[in-house]
Amino acid sequence: MGKVTGFMEYSLLKEGSEAPQVRVKHYKEFIAHLTDGDAKIQGARCMDCGIPFCNNGCPVNNIIPDWNDMVYRGTYREALETLHSTNNFPEFTGRICPAPCEAACTLGINDDPVGIKSIEHFIIDKGWENGWVVPQPAAVNTGKKIAVVGSGPAGLAAAQQLARVGHDVTVFEKNDRIGGLLRYGIPDFKMEKSHIDRRIEQMAAEGVSFRTGVLVGKDFPANVINWSKETVSPEQLQQEFDAIIIAGGAEQPRDLPVPGRELKGVHFAMDFLPQQNKVDAGDKLKGQLMATDKHVVVIGGGDTGSDCVGTSNRHGAASVAQFELMPQPPETENKPMVWPYWPTKLRTSSSHKEGCNRDWAVATKRLEGKGGKVEKLIAARVEWKDGKMQEVPNSEFEMKADLVLLAMGFVSPVAQVLEAFGVDKDARGNAKATTDGEGCYKTNVDKVFAAGDMRRGQSLVVWAIREGRQCARAVDEFLMGESLLPR
Ligand SMILES: Cc1cc2nc3c(=O)[nH]c(=O)nc-3n(C[C@H](O)[C@H](O)[C@H](O)COP(=O)(O)OP(=O)(O)OC[C@H]3O[C@@H](n4cnc5c(N)ncnc54)[C@H](O)[C@@H]3O)c2cc1C
Ligand code: SF4
Repeated sequence: MGKVTGFMEYSLLKEGSEAPQVRVKHYKEFIAHLTDGDAKIQGARCMDCGIPFCNNGCPVNNIIPDWNDMVYRGTYREALETLHSTNNFPEFTGRICPAPCEAACTLGINDDPVGIKSIEHFIIDKGWENGWVVPQPAAVNTGKKIAVVGSGPAGLAAAQQLARVGHDVTVFEKNDRIGGLLRYGIPDFKMEKSHIDRRIEQMAAEGVSFRTGVLVGKDFPANVINWSKETVSPEQLQQEFDAIIIAGGAEQPRDLPVPGRELKGVHFAMDFLPQQNKVDAGDKLKGQLMATDKHVVVIGGGDTGSDCVGTSNRHGAASVAQFELMPQPPETENKPMVWPYWPTKLRTSSSHKEGCNRDWAVATKRLEGKGGKVEKLIAARVEWKDGKMQEVPNSEFEMKADLVLLAMGFVSPVAQVLEAFGVDKDARGNAKATTDGEGCYKTNVDKVFAAGDMRRGQSLVVWAIREGRQCARAVDEFLMGESLLPR
């Protein structure tokens, strides 16, 4: 523990960020990592409380009190090594993780928690800035070949772990660039894509092969992005590889079956967000879906919806509104009731702060327009009684809408991908595989494992990394009879 009295002496310091009116003019990141001096003070706030609930609250079980102490002492390289021992990609989580660790921090019971995520961000940026993040190629080659289908955080974490113990890993990705939702869901202003490119370079130097534009399987729904130019069948992979990990995410979006859904100007969030990321990457797009001068209504109050808000404001929308079906959560949680678990409370993202009219307990009833184009949205207020949703009488209202973005989450992985492999689904339509015990992460199909959103359903980057790492160990054990990879 760095400083015994640190938590009493120092307050939580937030990372610096550009003002909303400045940052909406560009698509770059706008949050700066802590300075050395500030990081030291923030590390000193850790109480080393004995039972580190933060370590349990973090899905990859980052060894947080240890690296807090190392940052306080200025032993940054050691901090980086400790951080990397549990997390392949802290530059992703240090930027976009919602930080369940901080909800579990003991200091958070009666004070602001330790700014764990900002310290993680500081350590990994320091590592890259100083050239300490280098390839770690395996000393031996096992001669075993592994295919990873999907290049999101789950697939990448699994691939890196397996390459580092000497397996020959190939990642197949249907889109034109590697990264999954890190690349084509999360906007650049939350995480610039150079962070993914650096990791791809590192992984390539560790022996991982990447094949983009390749769809594994054949049939694919039209409402999910697919920029593949060639296909490979699951049978081909079965013949060529000793093990296969399917990490294709949960890409099937939830639709809004109301009258007027077919009108022009009503789109899934994932029709909208990836296009801007492509343009940010330098691609020329014909007819990019833009929010410029439009009245935008985002339906769905989660992360994806918030990203649509941030992107619409950067496009120069005339107005941006966001509707959520559930009631507005409380501003603060009842700490003794919920700690150390993730509380339900009002969360205001940086995109919301850039301008957005948010409204809760609102159900969209229909969309109306002229000439086949959406012009307005008709909604009603709802209330919840005995767990059932009821419309509030006489509460119908209408809203001008030239662009309606559906961001109501994702129901499941694409069924056709699981079916092409013959993988059993669980009750929610995810790939069926357990996470504990013998045979964990293995599906019903010989040699086929599943990880990330494809197995657990729509989730978080940090959970995908955890599943990728754990699945890698399961595959290594399956191929070699034992494994030195951490669980
Ligand atoms: C807009 C948006 C914003 C988000 N923001 C955050 C955030 O701020 N913080 C956070 O923690 N989480 C966020 N999430 C959730 C997070 O991105 C996901 O939980 C995470 O990326 C899942 O990782 P994954 O590797 O399982 O799958 P994905 O990232 O979905 O990657 C799956 C990849 O598999 C590919 N694929 C699928 N099928 C095939 C096939 N048959 N052949 C070849 N390739 C295939 C897909 O093209 C895709 O690239 C967000 C999600 C969205 C949609
Ligand atoms: S990965 Fe997320 S939960 Fe874990 S320490 Fe980092 S911010 Fe916290």
